[in-house]
Amino acid sequence: MKFATLSYNEKETVCVINSENDTFIPIKTRSVPDMQTLIENFDEIIPELEEELTAAGSELEIPLTEAAFLAPIPYPRRNIVCLGKNYLEHVKEIGGITGGPKDQAPDYPIYFTKAAYPCNHHMGTILRHPEITEKIDYEVELGVVIGKRGINISVEDALDHVFGYTIGNDISARDVQNRHVNWFMGKSLVTHCPVGPYIVHKDEIPDPQVLGIQSYVNDELRQNGNTADMIWGVAEIIHELSKGYELFPGDIILTGTPKGVGMGFKPPKFLNAGDKVLCRIEGIGELINYIED
Ligand code: MG
Repeated sequence: MKFATLSYNEKETVCVINSENDTFIPIKTRSVPDMQTLIENFDEIIPELEEELTAAGSELEIPLTEAAFLAPIPYPRRNIVCLGKNYLEHVKEIGGITGGPKDQAPDYPIYFTKAAYPCNHHMGTILRHPEITEKIDYEVELGVVIGKRGINISVEDALDHVFGYTIGNDISARDVQNRHVNWFMGKSLVTHCPVGPYIVHKDEIPDPQVLGIQSYVNDELRQNGNTADMIWGVAEIIHELSKGYELFPGDIILTGTPKGVGMGFKPPKFLNAGDKVLCRIEGIGELINYIED
């Protein structure tokens, strides 16, 4: 199942998406005021929800043109956790940005966090912030949404803690990243964390390490990778992160980006006002955003 948060009739509405015919059904089962509630109570809600959807059939399907996507979790309770340098070919293309080995896998996963309050969404505007940066870049990433609380999670149990998967675009102000050495500020400018369009429940993605992952700028293919090429896969990312750090339902982890970011080109290809950025992950969908000054 695919779950989205939509703005429908001017209300935030949690919905089941049918991506085959571009329709949605608002969830009416019990009280599901937001995605966080759905994730936290999923095991109790799902039997009733399945019954509700079966009874409704296709009669209650509403065209997506009648609503607008919000981020699946519009206001995440905590910062988004991100992975730096998690695809070897990307490590090589960005060289030694803010330290670390230039052409080899780091010894441990590189975690940092990114503020996203609110989180940007499918078809949302990405602001270029020209007053402080001239080097806005895109990074398509597989997003992992945590479904079950846990600490010190084993590799074997890690995927049990996943609720589902989504797409993230880890927008990065490269000059700000370099100026401040630490990545937080260059990754956290307002509108710089589009996530969506929806969350695909993990039942539809039994293996997150076999997914084609691409980005396009103005229909030009820039990144073309596969999640098989992650240095640390989703289970290892969760295992290592949870060593002494507690994960909660609704936490989002962006798992790093493959080769082909703007700063990797010679000369670099940073984003400009008017650009369209499309991120695609196999089995999930497409996340589209537009750049504005
Ligand atoms: Mg990234």
